[in-house]
Amino acid sequence: MAAHRDTSQPSHTTNQALSPAMPDAAEQLHDIQAVNEQLLISSLRERTSAEYLRRQLAFSTAITTSLGEGLYVLDTADRCTFVNPAAERMLGWSDDELRGRNISVVFPMLPVPAQAVPRFGTAQRDENALFVHRNGTLFSTAYSASPFTTSDGIAGAVITFRDMSEVRRLQRMREEYLALISHDLRAPLTAILGRAEILLRRLTQQGLDRDADSARIVIASSLRMNAMIEELLDRSRVGADTEMQQASVIDLVAVAQQMLDQTIAPDARAQITLHAVAALPVSAKEAQIKRVIVNLLTNALKFSARGAPIAVRVYQQGAEAIFAISDQGVGIAPEHLPHLFEKHYRVKTVEQVEGNGLGLYSSRLIVEAHGGRLWAESTLGVGSTFTLALPLSG
Ligand code: ADP
Repeated sequence: MAAHRDTSQPSHTTNQALSPAMPDAAEQLHDIQAVNEQLLISSLRERTSAEYLRRQLAFSTAITTSLGEGLYVLDTADRCTFVNPAAERMLGWSDDELRGRNISVVFPMLPVPAQAVPRFGTAQRDENALFVHRNGTLFSTAYSASPFTTSDGIAGAVITFRDMSEVRRLQRMREEYLALISHDLRAPLTAILGRAEILLRRLTQQGLDRDADSARIVIASSLRMNAMIEELLDRSRVGADTEMQQASVIDLVAVAQQMLDQTIAPDARAQITLHAVAALPVSAKEAQIKRVIVNLLTNALKFSARGAPIAVRVYQQGAEAIFAISDQGVGIAPEHLPHLFEKHYRVKTVEQVEGNGLGLYSSRLIVEAHGGRLWAESTLGVGSTFTLALPLSG
């Protein structure tokens, strides 16, 4: 019996022993519940952020996929990390094939600065670049490359690009068309002008003043029409030239001589004297510099009395080639001088003279794009000198 254990006691004892443990269990349970809750919350959070990430990813994938422009992402070691479908199409490489490969695989023609983007962090643009397709053919592109950063600094660069082949083809067509119009319209006009000048001389010799006046009107109208053709061409060329033309080394003296001989009517040509050195090489877009010279020649004639002398000087000054044209025409008052090169600016007193106020504006843009300068000096009623300075080549 002694061995018999009163089960109530032990149980009591047990209960007594357990009773302090009861809160532990409850706490444990509570802790477990708390942990579970935490797990649930964080799993919900994870699910929410996973869901959020998934949506973000789907969103950016949808954007990059539907983007018409090519998108090429590279890391700081110039390795490709992503290309979108438009880039795949234009380049002929798939995203899988390009990932991890050096940028030079697809952009061997890309100028160094763009490749330097990830390293130096400067954005680059080029409207006139050439990219190469996988099959080796080159195509015209306009691209912009910009670095992107994370909290660790520059992480890489994004290059977006457009295929410009079609635009370039249309530009070439427009250029050809313009050259054709210019040629076709000018040829008969030159004939009219030449004959009218002969007529004018003969009629003047014979003392037939009234008929001579008619010949003068024919000449003036032909010159006006010539100026209008020039203006038409000027307007349509603005922009196209800048993009299309390549600079080459030209002789400023030869260009000046050529413009005098080819664009000025013979009787007006007689009032212009050219003083020039043998040759002056400048690196320039020839057609653009010709436009500037023609604008300056035309202005000197337009704003001078008939027959008034005009001097053109082409010479070297320091590291610059100078083209200076001096007339003895109406001159320009000091208050107008600072505004002459503004768009559409014309001095009111010469309103009766044909013009649109674009010649000097576009001339200065051209000259400055060549790293040169264009300025005017003038005295009202005495005459004006317009000077063009371009850096000498070599
Ligand atoms: P446009 O000759 O078509 O008016 P420009 O831009 O070539 O336009 O010239 C702007 C203005 O500058 C002219 O309208 C004229 O008032 C003035 N100008 C230009 N060249 C001369 C010049 N050689 N003599 C006097 N005024 C001039």
